[in-house]
Amino acid sequence: MGKQEDFVLRSLEERDVRFVRLWFTDVLGFLKSVAVAPAELEGAFAEGIGFDGSAIEGFARVYESDMLAKPDPSTFQILPWRGEGPSTARMFCDIEMPDGSPSYADPRHVLKRTLGKAADRGFTFYTHPEIEFYLFKDAPEAGGEPVPVDRSGYFDHTAQSKGADFRREAITMLESMGISVEFSHHEAGPGQQEIDLRYADALTTADNIMTFRTVIREVALGQGIWATFMPKPFTTHPGSGMHTHVSLFEGDQNAFYEPGAQYQLSRTGRQFIAGVLSHAREISVVTNQWVNSYKRMMFGGEAPSYICWGHNNRSAMVRVPMYKPNKGQSTRVELRTIDAACNPYLAFAAVLAAGMKGIEEGYELPREAEDDVWSLTERERTSLGIEPLPKNLNEAIAIAESSELLAETLGEQVFDFFLRNKRAEWDEYRGQVSAFERDRMLPVI
Ligand code: GLU
Ligand code: MG
Ligand code: MG
Repeated sequence: MGKQEDFVLRSLEERDVRFVRLWFTDVLGFLKSVAVAPAELEGAFAEGIGFDGSAIEGFARVYESDMLAKPDPSTFQILPWRGEGPSTARMFCDIEMPDGSPSYADPRHVLKRTLGKAADRGFTFYTHPEIEFYLFKDAPEAGGEPVPVDRSGYFDHTAQSKGADFRREAITMLESMGISVEFSHHEAGPGQQEIDLRYADALTTADNIMTFRTVIREVALGQGIWATFMPKPFTTHPGSGMHTHVSLFEGDQNAFYEPGAQYQLSRTGRQFIAGVLSHAREISVVTNQWVNSYKRMMFGGEAPSYICWGHNNRSAMVRVPMYKPNKGQSTRVELRTIDAACNPYLAFAAVLAAGMKGIEEGYELPREAEDDVWSLTERERTSLGIEPLPKNLNEAIAIAESSELLAETLGEQVFDFFLRNKRAEWDEYRGQVSAFERDRMLPVI
């Protein structure tokens, strides 16, 4: 038994923990949880806890359904929303096959494998997400239009605001679970909030995002309201993205930083961006995985529709933020495609694989976009070589199907399941008769 396992076992007694929830994530990014009694934990660390993998989306074919959840002791935390008295704790798990090999269907493993490849080249991948979401007055009702908790807008400060009270409680809870928050504010839409997590290695960030979504929903329920990470809940208000700032480190040196270079951005940084841009269309199905995701990216509103990069250009898909002299280690790039309803393990793996491809193959970075790319005509964009992102899930699936990069990154099993699942979502969606069609047609024909 290692030191971290010992620490967990001691904490169980000291903190009077009665239930330990073992968490993992399915292929579509939904959190799964099984509670075990503290007495089971020693065994769980040694051998894992068995479960039926075929009951989890994308995990197993029926003939290989036995799987093991093995808790990662470094992720042990008490769950603050369970209140006073005996406590409940959680740990994230790695999923293993009965022979102890990692499950290829485990999104955490997909990310670990991709991080491992970058580590072989000496790189650590850091991410810092800006997570947006809406707060509604009530739980959703089928067919109903949700009502936001307020009418405020970007950075608004209003007395006794529901959003500010919400953010205070949520951030206190996140911090008590070891998740540092850097910024928070009201976003542009009514009831829309943003909370930005401090940068961390990508595996920790992905775990933190899963915890974040749970905390946000719990706090909302506790306050009698409803939180959603749906990418585009309203036609007329901005969607919720998860812009992510990324950087690669070599030891304690930021590999994107080069003093004196344009925007302090090193060759490695430029090649990374070039990789992300060239493969953006292939990985879109992972960074933006729902039918609804594509509705966020078609109205401007600071969500990208076109593949280009720029310095401080908020219409660009990749933005190199303003740099501060003498703060080279914070050099990073902001990816603005990713939405808050993605599977963060798969999204980070896909982005890293695309960026690493750019570095390995020495891709050239195209010219930066200096204009507002939405205000250009189609012809102007074409002449600048600026291509569009997929316009809907159907297009994203078709492009992904022939992507070697995506197949290799996700692994055969996740790749097949994921695309089959997304195809089914699209087929179901395209058969729906919508209010839009009825409202347009019934009065006139
Ligand atoms: N809500 C926008 C999006 O969906 C982002 C707004 C911002 O720049 O923070 O990407
Ligand atoms: Mg924002
Ligand atoms: Mg941003």
